[in-house]
Amino acid sequence: MAATAGATNIAFPKGAVIRTILADMPPAALASGSVLFHEHLSLHLAGLEEHFTDDVALMIEEVRAAGREGVSCVVDAGHADMGRRMDALQRIAAESKIPIVASGGYYLQRTYPPEIAARTSDEIADLLVHEAKAQRWGALGEIGQQGGELTSDERKVFQAVAKVQSRTGLPIFTHNAYLGARSPSNGVPRDAAIRQLDVLESSGAKPAHVAIGHVCCLDDPKAEIATQLARRGAFVGFDRVTIPIVSDAQKAATIMAMVEAGCADKLLISSDFYSQRSLRKNGGAGISQAVTVLKPMLLKAGMSEEMLHSILVDNPRRFLAFVPGKR
Ligand SMILES: [Zn+2]
Ligand SMILES: [Zn+2]
Repeated sequence: MAATAGATNIAFPKGAVIRTILADMPPAALASGSVLFHEHLSLHLAGLEEHFTDDVALMIEEVRAAGREGVSCVVDAGHADMGRRMDALQRIAAESKIPIVASGGYYLQRTYPPEIAARTSDEIADLLVHEAKAQRWGALGEIGQQGGELTSDERKVFQAVAKVQSRTGLPIFTHNAYLGARSPSNGVPRDAAIRQLDVLESSGAKPAHVAIGHVCCLDDPKAEIATQLARRGAFVGFDRVTIPIVSDAQKAATIMAMVEAGCADKLLISSDFYSQRSLRKNGGAGISQAVTVLKPMLLKAGMSEEMLHSILVDNPRRFLAFVPGKR
């Protein structure tokens, strides 16, 4: 199977781009490899002891390695309230030569700056539209909730990013608190992912440019929640490959259930890279781990090379591509 199989079959709207930090790129320019839609290349989060991404030279080496392993683009899922540094991302993109998309927004309740509480969703949306332009964001994410229900501030931020999408076209991806087999005893309802889509959609977001994240951390072997999201037109994030909240074997089985249900075109795969255990330098699977770890499992489960290509290369480009300009 040729490495580019399937790449010519997908059409993008006229003028659609993927907005990387250094340039707006036509989606076809990223068809040479996997696009990882949710990783962390610069992160300094309160409560997270690991600060290895402060070593930008190290991250450049790790991103270069991912490029050699077939990754064509990486989305950094952080933003200012997660301690993400734009200057670090710019350097990583320039020196590794791997295009990087910077996302933006607000993470979840405990990381919000105090002014969120006083602002309306329209005021937050105004601010985000301004920042998105100033910082060349290519997506809004990861937009999260820290518990089972959205707090009132979190609901406001979800409404705000939906409004930003209707004004700018930027894609949105989310974070939720699914905890595998411990759910729902941890208080996170199975349908938390569905409720996120409800809030986004009712505030004007288009499901075709929404990815509901961390769905692979729900103990959902028959893909019941995942297929509901897909049938409403949203992308479904299997974005924590190697994070053992749910085993990778179960993630692969749930992905195959999605494929069986006819929802392959809504699958997104990534790894939420955040830990030094994953660094190539430390013998880990590297930034490309979503692909290198999961691909052999999916092939073994019977997935074709052609379908893998469309999931790893085409789906994330369809999710990220948007037509810039006023609406
Ligand atoms: Zn997350
Ligand atoms: Zn993340």
